[in-house]
Amino acid sequence: MSFIRTEDRDGVRVITLDNPPVNSLSFALSGELVPIVEAADKDESVKAVVFIGANGIFSAGADVNDFSTEPTPETRTIRDVIAAVERSNKIFVAAIQKNALGGGLELSLACDYRVATADTKVGLPEIKLGLLPGAGGTQRLPRLIGAQDALDMMLKGKNMKAADAKAKGILDEVVESPDALLDAALKLALRQAQGDTQKAQGDTQKAQGDTGSGKRRISKRKVELGKGITAQAAPFIVSQAHKMVPAEDAGGLAAHKLIDAVEAAFELPFEFGIAREARLFEELARSAPSFALRHVFFAERELAKIPSFEKLRMTDTPEIKKAGVIGAGTMGTGIAITFAQAGIPVHVIDSNADAVEKARQTVFGMFMYQVQKGRMTQEEAWKLGQSIQFTDDYNELADADVVIEAVFESMDVKKQVFAKLDGIVKPDGILASNTSTLDIDEMASVTKRADKFVGLHFFVPANIMPLLEIVRGKETSPQTLAIAFKLGKALRKTAVLSTNAFGFIGNRMVFDYAKAAGALAEEGISPMRIDGVAKKFGFPMGPFAMGDLSGIDVAWHIAKARPDVAKGRTDVIDRLVEMKRLGQKTMAGYFTYDKSVGKGREPIADPEIEALFAEEAKKHGIAPREVSDEEILQRLVFALINRGAYLLEEGVALRPGDIDIVYIFGYGFPPHHGGPMWYADEVGVKHVYDKVVEFGWEPAPLLKAIAEKNGTFAALKQGELVNA
Ligand code: NAD
Repeated sequence: MSFIRTEDRDGVRVITLDNPPVNSLSFALSGELVPIVEAADKDESVKAVVFIGANGIFSAGADVNDFSTEPTPETRTIRDVIAAVERSNKIFVAAIQKNALGGGLELSLACDYRVATADTKVGLPEIKLGLLPGAGGTQRLPRLIGAQDALDMMLKGKNMKAADAKAKGILDEVVESPDALLDAALKLALRQAQGDTQKAQGDTQKAQGDTGSGKRRISKRKVELGKGITAQAAPFIVSQAHKMVPAEDAGGLAAHKLIDAVEAAFELPFEFGIAREARLFEELARSAPSFALRHVFFAERELAKIPSFEKLRMTDTPEIKKAGVIGAGTMGTGIAITFAQAGIPVHVIDSNADAVEKARQTVFGMFMYQVQKGRMTQEEAWKLGQSIQFTDDYNELADADVVIEAVFESMDVKKQVFAKLDGIVKPDGILASNTSTLDIDEMASVTKRADKFVGLHFFVPANIMPLLEIVRGKETSPQTLAIAFKLGKALRKTAVLSTNAFGFIGNRMVFDYAKAAGALAEEGISPMRIDGVAKKFGFPMGPFAMGDLSGIDVAWHIAKARPDVAKGRTDVIDRLVEMKRLGQKTMAGYFTYDKSVGKGREPIADPEIEALFAEEAKKHGIAPREVSDEEILQRLVFALINRGAYLLEEGVALRPGDIDIVYIFGYGFPPHHGGPMWYADEVGVKHVYDKVVEFGWEPAPLLKAIAEKNGTFAALKQGELVNA
């Protein structure tokens, strides 16, 4: 298979990268490209070389699979291609369309010039995979745009639009349309080639003029630090950067190594800097956080692969052109905003006029905030606001492609809503519920379209949280699920499939987590310490702060509705509800809150609550004991793992990776630990199982089975356990 095409145009060799869909710079492509670059260098008829991408894109970078492939002596990587460009005497121009990311940008930085289309984005996102740009990016970018800007760009891993990249000096020219790209690159290449020849002939005056200044390798430049910053400031910049990123063991390993690599760019000659960068890259490629982040990357890409209907393609399903939302409360409003932002007009119905008024204000405030932040113009905000229509007329929903119900968490109310919707919404319209805990099938039973009924479980705030659980009822058709996944994509959510089980995936697991936290507190450990251990592990907040945020009454209601699930949870929840300490919203829950401390969101320890836990413990004959931080963490995280194993076995979740995604995107599990199931593999499933038994919990049979084989969750074959 060939990944490269070449063609000579007026003495310029055009090298086209063609590795669909995104021209990833795989080992195979690099192996083919190195000799082609070397041949162009040797060919006297070639005045200059232009790199361009097929498939409407320059390149999205390395092939992530290659990071885990052991190279052989014959393996060629993008680094070898870049080294060949660096050695060559020709002029190189990168003609960039749409994306030059990671290795794609690094290849273009090795060129003398970069031309791009106006819709291009450039970036070095390696940090998101726990890596650093390992093909010269850390050495060339600081030389091109200054160390401070380069560090900022690489540490955030964010993409930059063409216009900004031109202003920064990353791009030399921007053309409006892709049709003009190759022409512009050829012209630039020829102009510069001419300048280069003149320069070689000593005609320096002309060479620096309009005719072009010839070769312009970034490697020959000195590192600039930033505007107005002197060389003496280098150590300061480096030490500041180290202080700004998380500690190495808290998800910051790649960031620190990246800063080390940039430091090498200041201190070492280019070739040595490159060698240092390569060593640091290899170290990261073999590090646990990077393996975990690469697992997350692949797990995300698997989510929509549903084993039982492989043939179904999202492209075959109809577009969602109009949506409806019932209930303009917290969730309904957030969902409506999400639709508007995705460009899908939405009608919102609520039975309470005050709720509608409040929702209107929330929508207005939200879009105005975006305007203030400079994220959209007033006109755009107005247009988006217009795409959310509040109404009390159900007939407006007759032609809706999907209607999402987000009324009170009451089966009776929801059934009434769906019975009504079923009679009004067009026959092929999808009906969906945002319920957190109720039975999807029971709701579907009041309609004549159970096949077009699905759960769409958003997380609060719905317009911000990236996770969406798609809940498959008994009769939900594959076509409906495909539409749901397509909708998830349109709404820019990360969608995970769950079956219709209590709490679905995420909330079912969080119950066990909260239970473990409560039990620890009853053993005399303060909620503040328990939360501290969770935060040290990398959660943005601990279990008690999370309980306060979602509302103690919410947990209480669930416990009342499902005593079987609530079994073993602390009675302190009932006491808090009696005391009207419902969490952040009442400025008191497990913790207290004070408007002057962290805007009322910062938990403040409350000895009264610790005493309450002690009282409850006494009632149940639980003696206080010394518990190490290690055990606290194990009891929190292993509770998640054990429940995750049950969910896999019961077919509620399809794959261990799906559970990991739910937990990372919905509950803040630290991505550098890869999610609970990945973490189980990391610490050893056998170890987790032994501890679960030691803690006196009922181990999931699957956990036991894997432990007995000394196996891993990652090794489970996709679909093997599933009734899909
Ligand atoms: P909420 O109380 O803020 O909003 C519910 C709204 O529904 C209210 O404005 C009410 O006036 C309206 N309503 C009630 N009956 C109605 C009817 N018959 N017709 C039209 N409107 C009606 O509740 P919420 O927090 O937005 O939750 C809504 C749903 O979303 C619930 O099922 C809940 O379990 C689920 N959910 C909530 C969260 C969360 O954290 N809040 C997260 C995920 C899912």
